[in-house]
Amino acid sequence: MQRILTVIGARPQFIKAASVSRAIHAKEGLAEVLVHTGQHFDANMSDVFFDELGIPAPDYHLGVSGGGHGAMTGRMLERLEELLEKEAPDWVLVYGDTNSTLAGALAAAKLHIPVAHVEAGLRSFNRRMPEELNRILTDQLADILFTPTDTASDNLRREGVSESRIAQVGDVMFDAALFYAERAAERSAILNEHGLNKGEYVLATIHRAENTDDPERLGAIMTGLEAAAQERPVVLPLHPRTRAAMAREGFEPQHIRLIEPVGYLDMVALESNAAVIATDSGGVQKEAYFHGVPCVTLRDETEWVELVEMGWNELAPPGSADIALLLRNVVERDIGRKENRDKRNIYGEGETSTHITSTLSEEY
Ligand code: UDP
Repeated sequence: MQRILTVIGARPQFIKAASVSRAIHAKEGLAEVLVHTGQHFDANMSDVFFDELGIPAPDYHLGVSGGGHGAMTGRMLERLEELLEKEAPDWVLVYGDTNSTLAGALAAAKLHIPVAHVEAGLRSFNRRMPEELNRILTDQLADILFTPTDTASDNLRREGVSESRIAQVGDVMFDAALFYAERAAERSAILNEHGLNKGEYVLATIHRAENTDDPERLGAIMTGLEAAAQERPVVLPLHPRTRAAMAREGFEPQHIRLIEPVGYLDMVALESNAAVIATDSGGVQKEAYFHGVPCVTLRDETEWVELVEMGWNELAPPGSADIALLLRNVVERDIGRKENRDKRNIYGEGETSTHITSTLSEEY
């Protein structure tokens, strides 16, 4: 029996872990110990995902949230080290690029416990992003690097990572998008709740520190979305960090429809029926593509370069791009629609979770 200790703590990790957890439970010879660090703790940033996606209740909840990056990561490290010594798992499994990812990988590596990193090899080449530092360090520490795309695998090769550590398995978020699409269509009433019509509104999400912590960039995004909201409804589920930043700066948009963060099924419904998505999220850029909806990325660069190269996504650097104009153009050109696409499946076949569990049960 291989015991996998999974460390998760932030919203995108719940979504990524849902499919892999299901696959672990389905696979003979694998067992999971689930640890929630506590990084995201609000009901609508955490509990809703466990309920809706059927993620088992965490075996441990470390209750670590808030504070600076150093304090948060440090407290997680301390708690995780204790826990790993007690549980002595065969693997530690970490996801993405948050402080929970780095703390899990570092605590395990120091105790000589093999680490597997899901969504390895992503690079923005912008070291001012905390996520970029977390990714680079986690990839250095991990024994198996589960990459989603050719680009991610090539990034690792360029950094000298040996081929034996790289396992290109596709993207777990694609598994989730396929698995929950029908359920979202059946169960979500979010469009009615907010009086939105299919194909007629902009869905926006903003949460990256580079946007929320820079008043000029945040101001440029708000001005752009306000202008877009004169043309068609703009709905913005507000991340707690963005809500706090807007309050700090006194931004009170009049036309953008600000709503609370939504659960995954409502998010899928909002994404798949939008005319266009404007986002600085990594996951939402890909989900726009999965659901065949054009996307404008409110950043200077993206890790998901293939979407831009293939023309399904456009970058709109806040402060220099005319966001409202770009949104209008992208809707008119209909850049992301499924029917316009070639058939290459750049994120795998939707079976990434089973590739991950097969690899973990074979190794060691
Ligand atoms: N998401 C959600 N509700 C929201 C906003 C986002 O369920 O109100 C989901 C979204 O569908 C995606 C994930 O959260 O699966 C993305 O997380 P986030 O944007 O916080 O992080 P990133 O992907 O940038 O790491």
